Amino acid sequence: MTVTATTPTSLLALRRSVREFLAEADFTPICDSWMRGFDLDFTRALGKRGWLGMAVPEEYGGQGRSYVERFVVTEELLRAGAPVAAHWIADRQIAPTLLAHASDRLKDDLLPRICRGEVIFCVGISEPNAGSDVASIATSARRTDEGWVVNGQKIWNTLGDRADYMYLIARTDRSENRHHGLSELVVPMDAPGITVRPIYDLAGEAHFTEVFFDDVVLEDWRLVGEPGAAFKQVVRQLDFERSGPERLLSSYPLFEALVAEASELEDADLATLGRLSARYAALRAMSYSVATAMDADGPPTLFAALTKDLGNELEQLVVDVAGDLLPLTAADRQGDAWNHLAAATTYAPAFTLRGGATEILREIVTRRLLKGVKRS
Ligand SMILES: Cc1cc2nc3c(=O)[nH]c(=O)nc-3n(C[C@H](O)[C@H](O)[C@H](O)COP(=O)(O)OP(=O)(O)OC[C@H]3O[C@@H](n4cnc5c(N)ncnc54)[C@H](O)[C@@H]3O)c2cc1C
Repeated sequence: MTVTATTPTSLLALRRSVREFLAEADFTPICDSWMRGFDLDFTRALGKRGWLGMAVPEEYGGQGRSYVERFVVTEELLRAGAPVAAHWIADRQIAPTLLAHASDRLKDDLLPRICRGEVIFCVGISEPNAGSDVASIATSARRTDEGWVVNGQKIWNTLGDRADYMYLIARTDRSENRHHGLSELVVPMDAPGITVRPIYDLAGEAHFTEVFFDDVVLEDWRLVGEPGAAFKQVVRQLDFERSGPERLLSSYPLFEALVAEASELEDADLATLGRLSARYAALRAMSYSVATAMDADGPPTLFAALTKDLGNELEQLVVDVAGDLLPLTAADRQGDAWNHLAAATTYAPAFTLRGGATEILREIVTRRLLKGVKRS
């Protein structure tokens, strides 16, 4: 894999070119744009500029660049509240998962299209009775002469109704150890036997779904990696899912709008914004260092969990602070800050659930730290 040398100057130049692109682009900034800002044209424009699949090797249609460079691009897109949801899942976690585990056939089929922004992925891990406890998954995939036959139900699948493919975890073997016997499969969403139903959230938006599988037949080659090894494989994928700057920037457009209105605030309120800025700076440094570690050896599980936990706390706090600072009279309820606040108030409760709930992240952090203590 070629990793382009990254110097402060080259990163600055990259950052500038993303800002120039964003200044010309036509979109309305929103909070939580990596989950709710869906614009295929925008996604494809990023693909054309080489800003998707940045860390994917060139042989698979990627750019062979570093995760630090990817960090710079994604951070700028998120700060601006740009519509990046269409490619977010595929670019962030499916591409690295395929690179690590998939057959050449799957990689050749999917990676170049992911890098061009041509395929949308959803993730099918959670079920009505399996959220934090992934090992409780009941959806099954049975190997037959025709291929894998899938039956069961998934829930909370972001973009399930727009996705071309689902990354699915299903039980393929009823082993005594429930962490064994789970497998990963790539499912074309137009396969016969699939039913997708939208779920509406607090904001009244249907960005996630439930998906039902009724004897859905998948060709053998759609298996990702080793049969039965999904639990081990998915842990790595979740590190990619948890470690990025999106875990602290979901409400950043609201923060920027608040700062833009700072001239109307009292000194004590300005001090509050200053404290939030300091936390952004500290967490940004942590997320950046995770990107550096990813270039060496993939995302570190401990710091991925920490980034998400501390980042989610900050992105929820920004919404609370905005609620305290903005005037409450009906006449004042207008402008960017108010609009972002109204939206982010309904988005924020999900920040600490999606991608792993707080208690689960803290358990990961504690276990990892204790392991280090035992070793020393
Ligand atoms: C906006 C959004 C988007 C999502 N997108 C997707 C998606 O695309 N694909 C997908 O597969 N899933 C998705 N999810 C599901 C998400 O991964 C789950 O909500 C999450 O893993 C928690 O599972 P659960 O909802 O079943 O809650 P539960 O696991 O039932 O947890 C409920 C509460 O109990 C706590 N808890 C659970 N177990 C323990 C324990 N052992 N010790 C201490 N506390 C515990 C949790 O921390 C949590 O606070 C999404 C969720 C949201 C909110």
